[in-house]
Amino acid sequence: MSKFLTQKLQGLTPYVPGEQPKEREYVKLNTNESPFPPSDLAVEGASEYAKKLYLYPDPDLKELTNAVADYYGVGAENVILTNGSDEVLNFAFSAYCDKDTPAIFPNITYGFYKVFAELYGVPYTEIPLKSDFTVALNDYINAKGTVFIANPNAPTGINLTIDEIEKIVSSNKERVVVIDEAYVDFGGQSAIKLIDKYDNLLVTQTFSKSRSMAGARLGMGFGSKGLIEDLHRIRYSTNPYNVNSMTAAAGLGAIKDDKYFRDNCSKIIKNREYTETELEKLGFTLTDSKANFVFAKSDKIDGKTLYLKLKEKGVLVRHFDKVEIKDYNRITVGSIEQMQYFISMVKEILKEIK
Ligand code: PMP
Repeated sequence: MSKFLTQKLQGLTPYVPGEQPKEREYVKLNTNESPFPPSDLAVEGASEYAKKLYLYPDPDLKELTNAVADYYGVGAENVILTNGSDEVLNFAFSAYCDKDTPAIFPNITYGFYKVFAELYGVPYTEIPLKSDFTVALNDYINAKGTVFIANPNAPTGINLTIDEIEKIVSSNKERVVVIDEAYVDFGGQSAIKLIDKYDNLLVTQTFSKSRSMAGARLGMGFGSKGLIEDLHRIRYSTNPYNVNSMTAAAGLGAIKDDKYFRDNCSKIIKNREYTETELEKLGFTLTDSKANFVFAKSDKIDGKTLYLKLKEKGVLVRHFDKVEIKDYNRITVGSIEQMQYFISMVKEILKEIK
């Protein structure tokens, strides 16, 4: 840290992304990426645009915005595209939280919410999950700030129903409710259909997971015309070219290739079920995940040790030191071959510690 950094930022603890090791080939089940390549149409789109990199992108991303709007059955004025969904969440914190409007989110959720709150110096309240790791719905009714809920939640994978989301949104009409649907395509229910009814609802999604484009950085925000205008105001005040033209072209290809998207989501759901069944046979306890990861603990081995032993055997999963969840690991659902390998390594480890 230099002596020039503002006082406000000196205490900031940045977000720590999952490991992306280069020293060894791992079976990488730690950052919820897709095991499948992007659609051929996405790759072709990006390659075509590589030739046009001398031009700035269209700052309005009209073609992709219209395609996304059509796909999700909303108007173009209800959509904003961003550099990953982290960016639309960033915009939402900067737009809708201040000293009088704190951020409110679960104590166990996507770690970036806290970082954004600290970055903007806004107060925040972390609401404990219930003992079964579900979101404590009633604590968000008539909330005294801007609510951020990942649905399905991370790293638990547990989902609130659309009716439960609606209860939160309808009880907070004077405040914004942000529903982060990064993992919704693997079995959750999207709240996008509620944006017509509630002008305080912002839904965020991403191309990173279900559309295999984590490296391209493409996120989406859906909301009333007013909310989307707010977010564009911030975008045009920070980085009007936030989505690069190759990514936009890839996104267009990915949206057009609906069958590939759906087939991949189905495969992940099937592989998740396989992983859950096998882990249960080995005595693990799991949450009811509707995401592309499972969240599991064993009574035979503690979470950190299992994480380290798997790493030695070339399998990377994600462990969090936070006390409430330190017994668990979050395991991304990959291809069936990856999951079979993962299970065989877990079996080996359990034998070794006997
Ligand atoms: N929300 C949640 C709950 C996430 O886990 C992630 C991925 N780390 C994101 C948002 C952001 O993903 P991206 O910026 O790749 O869209």
